[in-house]
Amino acid sequence: MPARPVDAMHARPVIDIRHIHRIFESDAGLAHILHDVSLSVYPGEFVAITGPSGSGKSTLMNILGCLDTPTSGKYLLEGLNVAELTDDELAEVRALRIGFVFQSFNLLPRMTVLDNVTLPLAYTDVPRREREKRAVHALRSVGLPVDHYDHRTNELSGGQMQRVAIARALVNDPAIILADEPTGNLDSTTGRQVLDTFHALKRAGKTIVLITHDPGVAAEADRAVQIRDGRIYQGAYVPIEHTDRGAAVERGGRGVPEE
Ligand code: ADP
Ligand code: MG
Repeated sequence: MPARPVDAMHARPVIDIRHIHRIFESDAGLAHILHDVSLSVYPGEFVAITGPSGSGKSTLMNILGCLDTPTSGKYLLEGLNVAELTDDELAEVRALRIGFVFQSFNLLPRMTVLDNVTLPLAYTDVPRREREKRAVHALRSVGLPVDHYDHRTNELSGGQMQRVAIARALVNDPAIILADEPTGNLDSTTGRQVLDTFHALKRAGKTIVLITHDPGVAAEADRAVQIRDGRIYQGAYVPIEHTDRGAAVERGGRGVPEE
């Protein structure tokens, strides 16, 4: 059984970011979006990130998923210093260690469900039949009916698209699942089913970070990380030996199970 957060704190974090800043440069000038963000996520945890629209949640998630690079600060992923990885190593981390579920699904509309889900395997040496086997396994695990596998994804409902997006994130059996508002565009029944999929993934030992607007969804996670104006003000759980004063204070906050 996966460790409870309080036990897991003795393990090495899977995700460990320290003093991250993200500043975007554009013609309009500099936009300082993330301010001194530190966050640790432990093996087998299910962490929700919540905060108002525009607070920097997706910016943070893109950094966690190695899709974007912080302007300054350090990111250790499973103990690896992400800044020191070569492009090939980074591509491998993204493909094999992390499953990323985008808010807007990012499916290829003219391709079939099965082809969308096998896509992350396209550049691997996994044989074609094995790719399809893995895709079918992933699609089964998210509960998409078999008769939909050869449908184009633009023929699907929002909930079905979200399942395909989750299946695609799972096809490489990554240890870490990052999901940006996976229930945001779904009706409550479908959202419930998608959320149950994440609970099942947690039971299977995955480490999950999920962005949500919905306090009800956040309450189901092991802990909720609150972000506002690009700063985390609750739930960072940075290990004590690395903490500054602020992080040490918040360690006793919400999410630590009471005995
Ligand atoms: P959230 O996901 O919490 O709604 P985002 O992380 O998407 O917030 O965005 C936070 C802020 O960063 C917004 O004001 C957004 O306009 C800005 N932002 C995001 N990406 C960029 C970018 N590439 N260039 C400039 N500003 C950006
Ligand atoms: Mg967002």
